[in-house]
Amino acid sequence: MHSKPKLIWIDAVGCNGCSHSFFNYPEFKEIFKKIELLYHPLIDTEEFKIQDCDILVIEGALKSNFTRLGYELHNLITSLFSSAKKVIALGTCAVYGGMFGEGIVYNKESHGKFYKCKEKVINIPGCPAHPEWLAYVLNMIIENKKIDLDSENRPLETFSYTSHMGCIRNEYFEWKIDAESFGTKEGCLYYFQGCQGPFTHSSCNKILWNEVNSKPRAGTPCFGCTESTFPKKNLFKTETFMGIPANLPLGVSKRAYLTLAGVAKSLKNERLNKPLIEYGDCDENNTKNSK
Ligand code: SF4
Ligand code: SF4
Repeated sequence: MHSKPKLIWIDAVGCNGCSHSFFNYPEFKEIFKKIELLYHPLIDTEEFKIQDCDILVIEGALKSNFTRLGYELHNLITSLFSSAKKVIALGTCAVYGGMFGEGIVYNKESHGKFYKCKEKVINIPGCPAHPEWLAYVLNMIIENKKIDLDSENRPLETFSYTSHMGCIRNEYFEWKIDAESFGTKEGCLYYFQGCQGPFTHSSCNKILWNEVNSKPRAGTPCFGCTESTFPKKNLFKTETFMGIPANLPLGVSKRAYLTLAGVAKSLKNERLNKPLIEYGDCDENNTKNSK
């Protein structure tokens, strides 16, 4: 029988939100049964020491002259990095720098400090990272299975989707019916609320949070937290140029977007232009039934 893979989890510069996100995953104890947890900052493990491990999880960004566990942070990561078989950069801080500093392999402007060791890194961005994404990666490593990655070392299984895919507001997006005020059930949050779902790599609307919900489903725009551009300055504002959104859905040209938007608006979908509750009792001619 194979021995369990050894795991060290380092909290670099961050808020521990990615750890807490994982603790909310219903199966997290089951996964920790399949590994030998050498060190985690928030779990009762043995005292930290530099040692070889199979999986190194780094949560949080890198910053020069920052001390963690008695070492300068870059030196600490360097010492652990070389012997680890797989390194998981967990959360947008670790992947791109996010709120706090520099990413492990990438950062906002250029490559991060460990770019030369890119081959062994698996990036799981998100602020916080979704627990099921980490669970998927850990299970694949534990079972010694290959994880296909994109050009930014993110698992394709999770990041080939956009947050837009699976959103329950998609019908509104297609008919170009936008929520003009915050907190409504109806309408798409793209044009007036700053939703970044159509160009954010993430499966949030497919793999729901706590198996229940996602930001756009609950009425909050997607903040694009899995991208290197996170956090943008005004999370609730869509940048426009002459009335056209500056960022269009991935794969859609400006001309195609404008044509489709014009056609969709001109068709005026009666059902979606009114509160949903008023259409619970309509016949096929959109006429309200009287009882
Ligand atoms: S990615 Fe977000 S949740 Fe995770 S450590 Fe950074 S700030 Fe906290
Ligand atoms: S709310 Fe956002 S994710 Fe949902 S359909 Fe509109 S743009 Fe897409």
